Amino acid sequence: MQKQLAESQKLDALGQLTGGVAHDFNNLLMIISGSVHTLKKGVGDDARLQRAISAIEAASKRGAALTSQLLTFARRQSVNPQSIDLAARIQAVREVLGTGVGSSVALAFDIDRDVWPVTVDISEFETALINLVINARDAMPMGGTITIAAHNSAVAALPNASDCVAISVEDSGVGIAPDVLSKIFDPFFTTKPVGKGTGLGLSQVHGFAYQAGGTIKVDSELGKGTKITILLPRDNAAPKIQHHDATEADGSGT
Ligand code: ADP
Repeated sequence: MQKQLAESQKLDALGQLTGGVAHDFNNLLMIISGSVHTLKKGVGDDARLQRAISAIEAASKRGAALTSQLLTFARRQSVNPQSIDLAARIQAVREVLGTGVGSSVALAFDIDRDVWPVTVDISEFETALINLVINARDAMPMGGTITIAAHNSAVAALPNASDCVAISVEDSGVGIAPDVLSKIFDPFFTTKPVGKGTGLGLSQVHGFAYQAGGTIKVDSELGKGTKITILLPRDNAAPKIQHHDATEADGSGT
C-alpha cells in the first residue's frame, strides 16, 4: 500500500514535469507559428523564402505534435534566483508577448518608474508572465487590451515582508465563474478544448510565486474580466534602480 502510494506520487510528479515542459514548449511554438504567419504575408513571391517559411511551419507543427505525446521525461531547469530590474525584464519580453497575443489584442504597460527589485529565477518569471498573458488573450476572443502592471506596495501583504511589488496581468475578457475559480491553480485543470489547454499554466505561475516567497491574488468578474496579481517581496539588499518613465500603451499588439 505504502509502496503503491509512493509510486503513484512519483508518477504524478513525473506527469507534472512532462506536462510542464510540454506546456512551455507549446507556448514557444505558438509564438513561432504566429511569427511565421506574419512573415508569410510580407515575403511576396520569392520562392526560396517561401520554401524556408514552409519548412519552419512544418517543423513547428511537428513540434506541436511531439509535445502532445511527449514520452521523455525532462526536468525543468534548476531554479537560479537573482535580483532583477522588473521594468527591464518586462521590457525584454515585450516583443515575445506582443507576438503571442496576435493583432486583435493590444498590450498596455503600467510600470512604476522606481519599481523595486525582486529576487526571482528570470526564466520562471518570464514563463509566468507569458502564461498569464496567453490566458488573458484566450479570455478575449473578440480582442481587447491586456494591461501588464508593476507597482510598489507598502501594504504588508506578505507575512515575511513589509514592502512588496504587485505584478499584475489584467484583461477585459469572459471572467472566471466561481465554481471554476477554486480549481484554476490545480495541475491539469483546464476549460479549454483538447489540444489548446493543458491546465499547467497557472500551476507554473503558482509554483513560481511561492518559490519566490510571494503569493497570488485573483480578481475576476464574469463577463467583465480578470486580474491576476503576483505579490513578491521587495529585495531590500539590491541597489536603487534609476528608470525612464515606462508607463505607456502599446496599441500595435505586435
Ligand atoms: P490552460 O491555459 O492550459 O487551460 P491554466 O492553468 O493556465 O491552463 O488555466 C486554467 C484555467 O483557468 C483555464 O482553462 C481557464 O478556464 C481559467 N483561466 C485562467 N486565466 C484566465 C483568464 N484570464 N480569464 C478567464 N479564465 C482564465
